[in-house]
Amino acid sequence: MKRHMVHGYLQEILEELKDSDGGEVADYIPQLATADPAPFAVALATTDGAVYSAGLNEGDDELEFTIQSASKPFVYAAAIQERGLKKVRATVGMEPSGEAFNELSLDPGSNRPMNPMINAGAIAVNQLINGEDSTVEERTEVIRQFLSELAGRDLEIDYLVCDSELEVADRNLSIAHMLRSHGIIEDMAHDAVESYTQQCSIKVTVRDLAVMAATLASGGIQPLTGKRVVSPLVSRQVQAVMSSAGMYNLAGRWMSVVGIPAKSGVSGGIMGTLPGVMGLATFSPRLDSTGNSVRGVKTFHRLSEDMGLHLMGLRQRGDTAVRDIITREDGPNGRTTTIELQGIIDFAAAENAWRTILQEEKLADRVVFDLSEVASVNDIGRRMVVQGFQGLRTAGRNVILKDPRKLFPELS
Ligand code: GLU
Repeated sequence: MKRHMVHGYLQEILEELKDSDGGEVADYIPQLATADPAPFAVALATTDGAVYSAGLNEGDDELEFTIQSASKPFVYAAAIQERGLKKVRATVGMEPSGEAFNELSLDPGSNRPMNPMINAGAIAVNQLINGEDSTVEERTEVIRQFLSELAGRDLEIDYLVCDSELEVADRNLSIAHMLRSHGIIEDMAHDAVESYTQQCSIKVTVRDLAVMAATLASGGIQPLTGKRVVSPLVSRQVQAVMSSAGMYNLAGRWMSVVGIPAKSGVSGGIMGTLPGVMGLATFSPRLDSTGNSVRGVKTFHRLSEDMGLHLMGLRQRGDTAVRDIITREDGPNGRTTTIELQGIIDFAAAENAWRTILQEEKLADRVVFDLSEVASVNDIGRRMVVQGFQGLRTAGRNVILKDPRKLFPELS
């Protein structure tokens, strides 16, 4: 039931936004120009390991696409983890550039790229991986393995897209030459661009991206494998820079309206993190004039608004939503399970509550929901509680509500 609840909600968003199909697929990389614009998918991964996804068309959420610029925050994380923040900061800054992602520019004061989310910064960061003496192949392999650890599965490189981009990589080559002439990278420009382009050509699904984002959101622990991939400090640093520079030239407005640290890529993916709570991702290839996925941006708007995810929004986190679950024998009437909920019922609380309830093995046919200790409920929390109740009733259970403050008039 919990799956349907979140899945149904995600599916509904895709249906509602499917006609927002303006924009164009990226065409400066020949192989991306041939991409099918139709797929539309969304995924959420909680930091405690639940993954939900939906696709407009069957299987859209299982489709692989090249990660492109959404790789930048993760490789930045790998570089800080490997070399330390001090060394990485000496190579790349952390200020929004206000320029196009592929601008040939450096911070005038320090002669470093402005941040790791633009190509100049990302190419420089790529070169920090596996030491200066690394071959292109070794470096790419370290990055591929690192991204695979974040995703919890073995990711592959799309060499068709990679080779196609390398044929038209003049812009990135110019950037690499500029970096080399300032002593920021040591490799030959061509090798640096090849290594960076391979990084961008790693294939992911929208579910992978959400799980990878959730790893940052959890402070570095991969939610499915339980393995620590990066330190909490690295996660924090990456999300901080994403929040100011992740969305191309939309970054400022994005943070003000959506309020979720995020990074997009030209193949149509967007990944976002809500620290401590979840990773989010969307995939839809048509891009707007700022280079962000049209339907992806709209989906993030919706998710942020419905679920109250804006980072700067007032958030009071309490204990887990389920205060207690007690099953008692009621004599001749059979058994009764009493479920006590508490605190603020928002998305995270409701999702966690239903997961806990559905894992309860001895749920009786008579279920009493005691909401005496619930402080408040937001829109999505309400919706999930109501649907959950109805689901239990439909499944034939006798569900009784104890709601002294009438928080759920629709259920009484
Ligand atoms: N590989 C692409 C480039 O460097 C990535 C761009 C992006 O996704 O923003 O042009």
